[in-house]
Amino acid sequence: MKPALTLVLSFLFFGSINAQRAAPDELKTSAGSLTIQPQVHATLVLSLPNLTIYADPTGGAANYTGLKSPDLILITDIHGDHFDPKTLAEVSTASTTIVAPKAVTDKFTGNIKGKVVVLGNGETTQQSGIAIEAIPMYNLPADAANPMHPKGRGNGYVLTIGGKRVYLSGDTQGIPEMRALKNIDVAFVCMNLPYTMDVDEAADAVLAFKPKIVYPYHYRGAKGLSDVNAFKSKVEAGDKNIDVRLRNWYPAAK
Ligand code: ZN
Repeated sequence: MKPALTLVLSFLFFGSINAQRAAPDELKTSAGSLTIQPQVHATLVLSLPNLTIYADPTGGAANYTGLKSPDLILITDIHGDHFDPKTLAEVSTASTTIVAPKAVTDKFTGNIKGKVVVLGNGETTQQSGIAIEAIPMYNLPADAANPMHPKGRGNGYVLTIGGKRVYLSGDTQGIPEMRALKNIDVAFVCMNLPYTMDVDEAADAVLAFKPKIVYPYHYRGAKGLSDVNAFKSKVEAGDKNIDVRLRNWYPAAK
């Protein structure tokens, strides 16, 4: 193929992917500007000038066009919208560290590169200058017979990045461990039925732990997208100091 044509085609290709992706946000931290890039559903990318973190990478390598390879990958749970072995094999490198619960790492195959750190609920690790604490995530009641998300299997995470605390809820209801969180600067909170919780429960939990910024994510359920505008209204009615950020986490949906 002629170089000029290759250039045009690659521009069209990359241009279309980047146009679909929601615009990133920037947050000042003591380690430099943190770029917050929503991807799709539960998948996001957090990056500092010298560090790139993928959370629950899915969708294949094409979803990460134009982004740096991950230094750190966080995985919350075993389901396909969080743990995608094909994407992991494509995006991980020999210098990637993957942090995941045991239920996930038990399913790893030889194609996944990098170092694996198994983290259980309540445990912490320090990786690439980032403190990572695994937070429980589960359906209520915690002793239900066959919950989609039993307590102890998956991990939410609190990351301390350049002095800022970032919470990823994973798939959970408004559990006591979420409501008791302190000093959260940025929270990503799920809300979809029947898998996690409805917007009322999510808003109530968010009003309990009062993050400075909250992004509804993981909000596509069995009956379509949850009403994130209603979530925003409820949170703002309860505490106008919480910055509720609605972004397009489903760019391919029309
Ligand atoms: Zn999920």
